[in-house]
Amino acid sequence: GTISLGTLAWLARNHLFTSTKSPIRSTGQVESTKKQTPVAAPKKSRNFVEVMQQQSRRVIVFYGSQTGTAEDYASRIAKECTQKYNVNAMTADLEEYDMEHLDELPTDKLAIFVLATYGEGEPTDNAVPFWDFINQEETPQFSQADSAEDLSQPLKNLRYIGFGLGNKTYEHFNEAIRVVDKKLTAFGATRIGECGEGDDDGSLEEDFMAWQEAMWPAFCEVMEVSETAIGEAERTATYHTQEIEFVSETDLYLGELGDKTQSNYDAKKPFPALIQSRDLFTSSDRHCLHLDIDITGSGLRYLTGDHIAIWPTNSETEVSRLVKAIGLIDKLDVAVKVEAIDPAAPKKYPFPVPTTYRSIFRHYLDIATPPPRPVLGAIAQYATSEATKSKLESLASDKDLYKSEVVESCKNLGEVLESIDSTPGAFADVPFDLIVESLSRLQPRYYSISSSSLESPNTITVTAVTLKYTPESTPDRTVYGVATNYLWAMHQAAHPEIQNVESGPEYYTKGPRDTYLNQDGVKVPVHVRKSNFKLPRNPSVPVILVGPGTGVAPHRAFVRERAFQKRNGKDVGKTLLFFGCRRSDEDYLYKDEWPELFDTLGGESRIINAFSRETDKKVYVQDRLRENGSEVWDMLDKQHAYIYVCGDAKRMAKDVQTAFIEFAQQFGGKSTEEAEQYVKDLRSKGRYQEDVW
Ligand code: FAD
Repeated sequence: GTISLGTLAWLARNHLFTSTKSPIRSTGQVESTKKQTPVAAPKKSRNFVEVMQQQSRRVIVFYGSQTGTAEDYASRIAKECTQKYNVNAMTADLEEYDMEHLDELPTDKLAIFVLATYGEGEPTDNAVPFWDFINQEETPQFSQADSAEDLSQPLKNLRYIGFGLGNKTYEHFNEAIRVVDKKLTAFGATRIGECGEGDDDGSLEEDFMAWQEAMWPAFCEVMEVSETAIGEAERTATYHTQEIEFVSETDLYLGELGDKTQSNYDAKKPFPALIQSRDLFTSSDRHCLHLDIDITGSGLRYLTGDHIAIWPTNSETEVSRLVKAIGLIDKLDVAVKVEAIDPAAPKKYPFPVPTTYRSIFRHYLDIATPPPRPVLGAIAQYATSEATKSKLESLASDKDLYKSEVVESCKNLGEVLESIDSTPGAFADVPFDLIVESLSRLQPRYYSISSSSLESPNTITVTAVTLKYTPESTPDRTVYGVATNYLWAMHQAAHPEIQNVESGPEYYTKGPRDTYLNQDGVKVPVHVRKSNFKLPRNPSVPVILVGPGTGVAPHRAFVRERAFQKRNGKDVGKTLLFFGCRRSDEDYLYKDEWPELFDTLGGESRIINAFSRETDKKVYVQDRLRENGSEVWDMLDKQHAYIYVCGDAKRMAKDVQTAFIEFAQQFGGKSTEEAEQYVKDLRSKGRYQEDVW
């Protein structure tokens, strides 16, 4: 009987264990196909000290990450601790742990903080709870406060070090790590060396590597690991990859974002929103998309001035290039599961699984960013020829060579590998888990919302210019921005009538299971991010808006909001908008909307344009500001106007600030120091706000 039942079960195995057999061609190891009763995962402790004890970890690497880079750096540090120094380490998302336990961390352990600074010296979203906790007016209540002898030094047992990710273009460079460092020291903690500060405007990766050079010897001393014992340990894999022969089609993730079982939409699970699009430019090679994004029924809400995140898809051109190099081109539809080897790893899966190789490269991994030097070093170990190995090793070890051939030429991993050996499958020996470990998760791109939530609560608009550029060192190449060219491809797919315009790279526009492009229309996955860029509560307060190019996006929202309020009988103050672009007949954004909006606002409200290529001498918004300096100063000084600057952080925002400092000197009779302080004070009172990138 047992034998017969067993034989029957064997013969019927595919039907028993897979509801619909996947059309996906599958090879490789057979995963256990037995369906198991789902068991609720044990609730994760928020006490990281407890978790560290249970898992025998000596180091915890906390990260505050917005775009995934800080998280990657944290993983690299943790991996190096474990692999090279034999010190068991874990990474920790700051949001997932209660930081009042910092005072419980014993002296034989170490906390490492890898913190990105976002926007105006703000912490990343996931670091906000920690930021608020540590920046309270009074000393924060750590968990052992009741038994502490010295309340002013609650962290006297804590040993830590940190690295910040910032951008020198912004005024509050690396504010997050600087503040955290200052606070931890003030609460008695001991820093075991200098905190590093990376500059994304320079070379973040080089700053990170230089900081590590100084950090590891200090680490060895404190953790009592001998530096001399360190060798080039053999690489240990972080992930285990398993190809699956039988998998239910419905269980597969084919590019869906977030957990299928999660019902609400947020940053972890973006909402596939219907979009309508049009090109705002009239030129054939530059495009600026206006997107109307319908969030009806999503549960998402926004306020005027907020940001929306759009989740892109990688271009097929780049997917093909990379999979060709690593020998996966014939296996793209094989089902695969990738899982952390360490059962206690904070992140069990690097992306939703089971999935396919194609979905991994198309939807889940960032294949467009230049690979860091250590990645090229790791790949070199699997090179099949001496020449390839030597080239990869040179790029990994020679900073200048790497800078000129990878960073300045803006080459992604596929392009680097292809330029070394373009034979298909030349890098097929590189373990797939190393590729996964080397690439970050594909991140959403943020856009300043250009609609008013009062006027259109269910439609969010975006004003996005398509990005393409030619790196100086390789003038024959064009590099295309991932998200904006994806949006352009979606726009073209929805408007087959568009002709005679230059197309960008190829994209798969249908999305997972054809959900992004079908008879319903075009969809893109989105979520909303709150911002502090907000109009004064009282609409009668005058505002000065400065935003050239797509920097006009939130100003369109502001002007529309104020016109809406005016139409609804509100007393609305003067609105001055300084806009700049190349030509009035080429890239003048929302040219047709302004007359009616400013008519509604009436009085002295108006748009003041700087068309840089219509005059012999180029004119920019800051020049127009200066021409109207006395009026602007009057609005600021007498009418207590608010200033809003949006767009290019590198030059424009600085030049505009300089113009305001000059006004305070010229019209306000202040000295240079007083004028600078005046603008600083405006900022701290929220009367000078920036939304720059
Ligand atoms: P990516 O593939 O992400 O490429 C961008 C990267 O390319 C840059 O980070 C830079 O490293 C590199 N790069 C760009 N130009 C060059 C060059 N000339 N030489 C070398 N490298 C270069 N954009 C808008 O159009 N409208 C908005 O309203 C808007 N609002 C934003 C609001 C916020 C808060 C932020 C952070 C950004 C905003 N952006 C906006 C920018 C937007 O998020 C994207 O960065 C932009 O659309 C490009 O995305 P992409 O995926 O096409 O390019």
